[in-house]
Amino acid sequence: MMSVCLHPHCTDPQNPDNQRACRSCGAKLLIKSRYRALQPIQMGKFIRTFKGVDTAFSASAPIQLKQILLPEEILKNSANRQRAIEIFKQSVAALHTLKDVPNLQTPIDYSVVGNGLYLIEALPHGSTLSELLQNQSYLTESQIQKLLGDLLPALQTLHESSLLHRDIQPEHILYSHHSGTFTLINFGFPQLIAEMMQDSILKAGEYLIGDPAYSAQEQLTGKATFASDLYSLGVVCLQAATGIEPTYLLDYQGKHWNYQDYLTHNSLSPAFRKILEKMAAPLLLDRYANIKLLLKDLKQLDASATAQPVTQSGPQQAAEKALHWLVNAALPSFNVVQEKAIHIANQFSKPK
Ligand SMILES: [Zn+2]
Repeated sequence: MMSVCLHPHCTDPQNPDNQRACRSCGAKLLIKSRYRALQPIQMGKFIRTFKGVDTAFSASAPIQLKQILLPEEILKNSANRQRAIEIFKQSVAALHTLKDVPNLQTPIDYSVVGNGLYLIEALPHGSTLSELLQNQSYLTESQIQKLLGDLLPALQTLHESSLLHRDIQPEHILYSHHSGTFTLINFGFPQLIAEMMQDSILKAGEYLIGDPAYSAQEQLTGKATFASDLYSLGVVCLQAATGIEPTYLLDYQGKHWNYQDYLTHNSLSPAFRKILEKMAAPLLLDRYANIKLLLKDLKQLDASATAQPVTQSGPQQAAEKALHWLVNAALPSFNVVQEKAIHIANQFSKPK
C-alpha cells in the first residue's frame, strides 16, 4: 500500500506507507496525526474521496476520507476562508448530534488543514444495494418494505433536524448480511456542500450534489425539500423492484415511470405500487410532502395484509409467511430461497 499525499498541487503524491511527510512536497501525510489516505476512490476538481486507515488503533481501522478543496477565489480572501471554515464546523457539529441514530452512518471525525476540509467516515461494511441487485436482480415487495422500514425512521430524524440527505441512491444504501438491516450512508457531505452553496461560499454548478438519475427536478434546480429525499428513495425502490436503472424506467418527457412493464418476475400489490408511485412522483405536487404521510400509508398496507381472512391460508399464504421470516435471514440468496419456500409450503398444504 502507498500513502497518498493530499496536497492538491503535489506533483508526486505516492509515498511509502510509513512516511509521515510527503517526499515530494513535504506536506503532512497524516490528518490529525492519525488518518492516512492510502488510495484514491473518486477524484473531482474540488471533491476527492480516499480509502484510508486510522492509525490510532494497532489494527489500523479502515476509513474513508473525504476532502473538499476550497476554490482559489475563497482562499484569496481571508474573511471568506474564515466563513467557509465556520460553516463547515457548524455543519459537522449538527451532523454529530445524529451519531446515535440507528441505520444512519454519520462522519466519525473532521479536520481543517490548509485549504482542505476533511470528513472522516468508517469504511462501509456489507453490500451496497447496487451490489445486491447485481447478485439477485430485484427485491420482492416484503424486502422493499423492510428497506423502507429501516431507512425511513433514520431519514425522519434527519428531516426533523432540518437536514436533508440529498444523495440517496443504491450506492449509498448498505445491507449488512450480519444484522439483516439496511443503512443509509454518505450522509453529511452533500449537506455540507449545500450549506456552503446557500452561503454562496461555493458556486452551484461546480459542485454537483446527488446523482441526476435519482434527483428530483426541484433538487436539480437548487430547491431541494424533504420531498426530494423521498423522491430519490422512491426511485431507488422502483429500481429495486424491477432491477432496471431509473434512466430506462422514466419516459422521455420525464413525467411517467414505465416500471410496470418490467415487473415480469416480481409481484407488487396494487396498494404498494401506489405508494411507490407517490414517492417517486416527478411533480412535487403529486408526491408525499413528508415522511409522516408516507408512514401512515405504509402502516395501512401492513394492517390490511394482517387483516386477511384465515380461510385464505392456502399454500400461497404459507409461502408468504415463510418468505417474511426468511427475508431477514437470507436476503442475498433470496430468490433461490423463495422457490424452495413455495415448494415446502406446497408440500405442507397437500390434502392428506
Ligand atoms: Zn506531496
